[in-house]
Amino acid sequence: MPDSVPDSVAFAGRAPRFADLTTMRVGGMPARLLAPATESELALAALTVWGSGDEWMLLGGGSNTVVCDDGFDGTVIRVLTRGVTVLEPGAGGAAAPDRVRLRVQGGEPWDDLVAHTVAQGWSGLEALSGIPGSTGASPVQNIGAYGQELSDSLVAIDFLDHGTGARRRIEAAELELGYRTSALKQGLLGLVLAVELELHDTRAEASVLGSALSRPVAYPQLAAALGVQVGDRVPLEALRASVLALRGAKGMVLDAGDPDTHSAGSFFTNPIVSLAFSRTMPDAAPRWPLGGLELPDRVIPLDEYYGVGPVPDATPARLVKLSAAWLIENSGISRGFRLPGSRAAISGKHTLALTNSGGATADEVGQLARFVQGRVQSEFGVILQPEPLLVGLDL
Ligand SMILES: Cc1cc2nc3c(=O)[nH]c(=O)nc-3n(C[C@H](O)[C@H](O)[C@H](O)COP(=O)(O)OP(=O)(O)OC[C@H]3O[C@@H](n4cnc5c(N)ncnc54)[C@H](O)[C@@H]3O)c2cc1C
Repeated sequence: MPDSVPDSVAFAGRAPRFADLTTMRVGGMPARLLAPATESELALAALTVWGSGDEWMLLGGGSNTVVCDDGFDGTVIRVLTRGVTVLEPGAGGAAAPDRVRLRVQGGEPWDDLVAHTVAQGWSGLEALSGIPGSTGASPVQNIGAYGQELSDSLVAIDFLDHGTGARRRIEAAELELGYRTSALKQGLLGLVLAVELELHDTRAEASVLGSALSRPVAYPQLAAALGVQVGDRVPLEALRASVLALRGAKGMVLDAGDPDTHSAGSFFTNPIVSLAFSRTMPDAAPRWPLGGLELPDRVIPLDEYYGVGPVPDATPARLVKLSAAWLIENSGISRGFRLPGSRAAISGKHTLALTNSGGATADEVGQLARFVQGRVQSEFGVILQPEPLLVGLDL
């Protein structure tokens, strides 16, 4: 155990296995586990472990992490801080009367936060109902679902920087938030102590309309389930209930009694390919154009300029998102599929989730993931990329 970590954050007794700490329910033991429950203890624990030179990793709800059967030979810092504070105008609060700003501790369970905001009549997170995990992890892959993303509401994070050991505020615009990614996933190393969100305060409006309304529904399947058009607004509670029902039918809410939810959610991200490559896909393959990618300005040194500009290396590439679920299904892998003798299976409800049907090992999950990748690559020439953090597992 690194020196000077207060006893209150050190895990007493035998550390649990990752199988007990992650929703995939696989993985061996960490060498050490710290479980700080206040912001100051969390920061101190991180600084102490970083200063010790020990291997370390952060864990929130463990719903996007898959660890190998040998466990982790280092210190796990499990973020258990709780609390939601409304920031008052003049003290970092929202400037507009119909907005509310919240500061949320990193360990606050995400769905508790969403339930709280819906109950308060604050809109902006309702379509993100039912996503497991902690609030501190939410910017890491810019969580998203049913037409909303964290980036729609995120103002800034309070960040403890691993490089400098300093605490700093990072504005959302500097976090390079994109589809299931952010600077935090791409190498910005450190700890999200808290996140700051700005939501729409619909309470004044609700006193006139009779109920607090959601942000405009942005996802066709959700609109259909609610019996409205895309762009309509519906009561916040109704939207949350509808999202939870849709997610439940796909095994995408945690349910101890449903092995299809013993997963890391979507195991693969939807591949983003060039427009030209997307044209090689069968006509039936779903695709969503993502707009143009501008080529950066190029500076040509004067002594290399002969009166004509150089021919650009490439024409600006237009990018297209493909459906990983469609690629998997059409490479011959169907729901419920498993390799002979394996306890890791494709979810019975959704081909994008790899599940632990009971007692699976991390090795079995890895074998299944590699099999799926191999099938999709040989069928369509696309290498699917894993969405969760893999610790000690190579695909
Ligand atoms: C059934 C199911 C459904 C899901 N549905 C969705 C969905 O619809 N949309 C979606 O986007 N995701 C979804 N996920 C994935 C997952 O819930 C989210 O990515 C979630 O934000 C992970 O939170 P966590 O606390 O469990 O993260 P963990 O698995 O504990 O950690 C994930 C990563 O974040 C890092 N991390 C954790 N806490 C911090 C912190 N405080 N500071 C810095 N880094 C930190 C970890 O080191 C790790 O790299 C789903 C997962 C499951 C199991």
